[in-house]
Amino acid sequence: MSTQRVRIAVYPGSFDPVTNGHLDLIGRCAPLVDRLIVAVLRNAGKQPLFSPEERMEMLREATRHVANVEVDSFDGLLVEFARRRGACLLLRGIRAISDYEYELQMALMNRRLAPEIETVFMMAGEAYSFLSSRLVKEVIALGGDVSGLVPPQVEAKLKQRLAAKPAGRASAG
Ligand code: ADP
Repeated sequence: MSTQRVRIAVYPGSFDPVTNGHLDLIGRCAPLVDRLIVAVLRNAGKQPLFSPEERMEMLREATRHVANVEVDSFDGLLVEFARRRGACLLLRGIRAISDYEYELQMALMNRRLAPEIETVFMMAGEAYSFLSSRLVKEVIALGGDVSGLVPPQVEAKLKQRLAAKPAGRASAG
């Protein structure tokens, strides 16, 4: 009799902040694995709008209803984090062709570093294929409406944070 392996996936990203596009991907991947770890990249170089703790808190709140989703954070090599957490799969999203080249590079490098871990791509939901955290921050900073694109509590946090900054100064990501 063979013992069945627990399938753990890691979904890494900046999530600065989480959008409904990320959540759509999480909702579609979670039923396919035993555990989905959403992993916030603690990368000081990127000058994020929200701290890793704030980004994790927003993710936790938005994924509270999905039982097998866990939120964590990492620094350094993604594959080392994935190994530590016992993951066999890395999840990434593809929106447009423009995502493809970078994602392919990353996936091939990660395969070289950790051949036992597979990168799996899911296509963005049609309604979210234009959506990025960066665009949401730009629109909010200019006073536009982003309801339906991010969870309501994220929209409130964005308004609060960006109200304190001059328009057009939203950070990248
Ligand atoms: P990163 O800085 O790692 O690209 P992001 O938070 O921007 O972090 O994105 C994390 C992952 O989620 C990436 O694989 C990205 O392609 C994917 N993603 C981002 N926005 C969407 C979306 N609207 N629909 C589907 N996938 C998305």
